[in-house]
Amino acid sequence: GDGASVPVLVIGTGYGGAVAALRLAQAGVPVEMVEMGMSWDTPGSDGRIFPKVTSPDHRAYWLRTRTKAPVSNFFGFPIDKDVPRFTGVLDAEEFAGITVYQGRGVGGGSLVNGGMAVTPKRERFGSILPSVDAAEMYDTYYPRANAALGVGSIDPVWFETAPCYQYARVGRKHAQRSGFAWTFVPDIYDWDYMKAEQAGTVTRSALDGQVMYGNDAGKKSLVRTYLSQALATGRVNITPLHRVTTVSPAPGGGYVVRMEQINTAGDVVATKNVTAGKVFFAAGSVGTSKLLVKLKATGSLPLLNSEVGKGWGDNGNVMCGRANHMWDATGTLQSTIPCSGIDNWAAGGAFAEVAPLPTGIETYASLYLSITNTSKRAEFSWNAAANRVDLSWQTAWKQDSITMAKTIFDKINSKEGTIYRTDLFGVYKQWQDGLTYHPLGGAVLNKATDNYGRLQGYPGLYVIDGALIPGNTTVNPFVTITALAERNIERIVAADL
Ligand code: FAD
Repeated sequence: GDGASVPVLVIGTGYGGAVAALRLAQAGVPVEMVEMGMSWDTPGSDGRIFPKVTSPDHRAYWLRTRTKAPVSNFFGFPIDKDVPRFTGVLDAEEFAGITVYQGRGVGGGSLVNGGMAVTPKRERFGSILPSVDAAEMYDTYYPRANAALGVGSIDPVWFETAPCYQYARVGRKHAQRSGFAWTFVPDIYDWDYMKAEQAGTVTRSALDGQVMYGNDAGKKSLVRTYLSQALATGRVNITPLHRVTTVSPAPGGGYVVRMEQINTAGDVVATKNVTAGKVFFAAGSVGTSKLLVKLKATGSLPLLNSEVGKGWGDNGNVMCGRANHMWDATGTLQSTIPCSGIDNWAAGGAFAEVAPLPTGIETYASLYLSITNTSKRAEFSWNAAANRVDLSWQTAWKQDSITMAKTIFDKINSKEGTIYRTDLFGVYKQWQDGLTYHPLGGAVLNKATDNYGRLQGYPGLYVIDGALIPGNTTVNPFVTITALAERNIERIVAADL
């Protein structure tokens, strides 16, 4: 409550925050976690906690009055619709050149993501986090993160016949016929539950269109892994619907953390000050960067160095669809959880997930989210006139990513005699080049912080989320965010407590 004093406060309950809370609590330290989104534990009047991808309602979006679906059109018709303003689970945060999708609620991005849990190839690690010892990561911290997250793999025999992965088998056939390396992608979804969904013996979630606006079942979000373990220690408390606005040095040592309590319409109902000995910024790449850039510019934390706000990237995300021939139907029942990818990173700079299009009808479309090796990096800056943080990303920068993704899909189209879908992202638009699901950087390790996330100039302030990673992980990012947080918190527990 207002005026409280705590040893450790963690801002945000995503991957970085959850790792910090668990490991600090296990070391005997009481931890207070503050999360601006809701705790998603109560079903609505329809019996569901979360809506389906095809029927977003107030629960879907963070304080928007109109949906902003990544696949925005179907046969050219716009599908977005009005929804009541509510503290929904998915934030489509709009900057001038890019919309950044992020999870909101206890569990952060783990509530809305596809659960794809990919460890980068070891030979690529040096390009991802050059100041981190790869041997330590691959021997200790990646295995620790994968185990704690509950990462598992699809049963390859079941895959061959499951109707819900026909779209992935079509994706494999096309990839392999063009000579590309195709791989299964591990996931934190409970694969036994998935099998039971297909068999019809449990309530469907991944097979009932749930993913981007949350999963009611099957998904091992952080709520079921790190956060439940953290709460079980008895030393962790989570306060939802509280948004941190300021962190500044307290006169008697430690830091004053100012926060706003909001209601589900987003109105501020109270402001509170809490004093904390240590503060962990785990608000995600965008959330942490926005806070730090504002606090440096407005005089709360003036000693933060000039690297704060820099090194932000989109993980090279770009989406496209292909129109298949009638003999390559992708199926009316599609699991929302992708299970495979096409790896053309070495030759073409692109790793593409074979993604579902779970509309319930046959679309003859293959959809892909590519992660590409773009070198474009943007910067956050304080806009005093508008009282907000801006991001310097330009939409045209995605051209590099499109060029790399085309090394895969131009070849497949030419081999199959097919074309790009032009009706999914607007009217006659082949590429979804206006978004990212994978914001990374803005408070880069060993630049804005020391090599363990300690913020320069302020003992007791740490960054422990995706903001530490300079813009690209070559694959989906949350396993790397988790493993890096495991590495850093082990050092911090040993050296700073
Ligand atoms: P987050 O998980 O974003 O957590 C930050 C938390 O802090 C949020 O809960 C936020 O509400 C809270 N917060 C922010 N600001 C404040 C504040 N001022 N005060 C209080 N709380 C605050 N990655 C993969 O690896 N595999 C996938 O399959 C995958 N699919 C994705 C699909 C979608 C639709 C999206 C949006 C993302 C996907 N991602 C995926 C990305 C992944 O979810 C993120 O990389 C990851 O969640 C980032 O972790 P984090 O700890 O940095 O921050």
